[in-house]
Amino acid sequence: MRIVVLLGAPGAGKGTHAPDLATAFGLIHLSTGDLLRAEVRAGTPLGSDVAGIMGRGELVPDRIVIELLLGRLGRPDAAAGAILDGFPRTAAQAAALDGALAERGSAVEVALLIDVSPDEMVRRLTGRWICEAGGHVYNVAAGLGPRVAGRCDVDGSPLVQRADDREETVRARLAGTLPALEEVIEHYRTQGRLRTVDGLRAAPEVGAALADALRSAVGGDA
Ligand code: AMP
Repeated sequence: MRIVVLLGAPGAGKGTHAPDLATAFGLIHLSTGDLLRAEVRAGTPLGSDVAGIMGRGELVPDRIVIELLLGRLGRPDAAAGAILDGFPRTAAQAAALDGALAERGSAVEVALLIDVSPDEMVRRLTGRWICEAGGHVYNVAAGLGPRVAGRCDVDGSPLVQRADDREETVRARLAGTLPALEEVIEHYRTQGRLRTVDGLRAAPEVGAALADALRSAVGGDA
């Protein structure tokens, strides 16, 4: 079983690149954020436990995420392996993953870090503006801004920011998650499994650099 961990702060582009890498390397893409959102949508007891935590942008307790992720990894379609996106997010999650893989005679093969500075993360995460009337979405940071600043191209109504996209909220969210991410990065650096890719370049270049790093780490031919 080949397990690749994709690391990066919120806004670094993990969700953009993970599906492409998974397809190129014949792995499945597992995002704990997606797994948790599916539980919330389905209205399961677990989903109702975590909905509030997720809404506030806080981390779901390790025990819950570890059980969910390991359960999913045990399903037949994950037998060849997976790209993990958004997991592990804490040192305890990284240790639990190591333990579970060791029981199967396996280990994390490589941890790829998409490196983006905190200021750039704030710029990306606060770039989203939504039109009040029709919900049309713009992202100034991604070069997808409106033609006239502050006005919707479609219906001319004012653009507003969601509360959790405002700079002070985004900075608070990052301050809450970055220390744990640092521990996870250190975990894989100590094991000699960390590969870092500069995430400040255009998305296609970052994608190509990730694929190169993965290819050289696993010695594959994808
Ligand atoms: P994401 O889609 O990766 O941004 O995750 C969305 C939300 O799900 C996060 O803000 C957390 O509340 C929760 N979450 C996802 N993955 C984890 C994890 N590995 N540990 C704790 N909480 C998580």
